[in-house]
Amino acid sequence: MKGFRFSSGFGPRLKISEKDRYDFHLGMDLVPLYDDKVYAVYNGTVYAVYLEGDPKNPYPNGGNVVVLKHTLPTPFSLYGKNWTAVYSVYMHLSELSLSPRDVGKKVVKGDVIGKSGSSGTTLLNHLHFETRVATTCSAPYQQRHPQKRCSAIFGAFRNPHVNPLYFLDYLDTNSYALNISSCGSDACFSVSGSKREWDFDCFTAFMCNGEQKRVCYKGFEGIDQLNVDNNDLGWVVIEPYRIAKQSNKWAVRWRVKSPLSAIRAVAVSDINGFSLNETLSSC
Ligand SMILES: [Zn+2]
Repeated sequence: MKGFRFSSGFGPRLKISEKDRYDFHLGMDLVPLYDDKVYAVYNGTVYAVYLEGDPKNPYPNGGNVVVLKHTLPTPFSLYGKNWTAVYSVYMHLSELSLSPRDVGKKVVKGDVIGKSGSSGTTLLNHLHFETRVATTCSAPYQQRHPQKRCSAIFGAFRNPHVNPLYFLDYLDTNSYALNISSCGSDACFSVSGSKREWDFDCFTAFMCNGEQKRVCYKGFEGIDQLNVDNNDLGWVVIEPYRIAKQSNKWAVRWRVKSPLSAIRAVAVSDINGFSLNETLSSC
């Protein structure tokens, strides 16, 4: 897509349309600004084309879906494995430039694969874009199909989704802000960043008792992958922030179920390794 705005990034998301329900968004949403055309992000091959209503469509909410397979110039490390290919998944398309007969054909970066739309379960014209190291074997799929031995691929009850920004060019401005406060008897950390840059990856709390607690999206460290929409991770609650629609920022609040005095430091980091550290207490 050429002219677009991001309406949701990869990670925790507040669904205002669903009475502020929280979910964990496994892709990015791009809303077209003046052109609905959807382009292949990389050279690759057509892996699958699913039409809305196809009972074999493994993405029943995705409407018309295209999946491309790309060989990576350098292997991508996830779950202790080096992945040499990644799949890009395009959902909610209104028009397809490819058909199921095109499976196996080559695509070149920039080829039009269709137009964004609102097929599947969405009302808004947008492209839901995912990148995955596998097209199946998500944690819920593994639970439904225990006989498929998916765990041999990348481990039991893990998700193949990766933040698309790992594979795309974008302006990395490191424009994060971290706000620290007490919230009742807990400690609250609000992280915000630019809506042009959804590359947030990890939140780490260094506790006074020596423990190091982490939540990371790449590989979903610290997150129950069978239930990624659960915002209560035991020691921390993820609270996606409601911010003004016209704001050019996203924000997420991490409520650590410990007082500020029990936390020596916190760090937030992005997928490129940029890290913002804040020392809180000398314990
Ligand atoms: Zn989406």
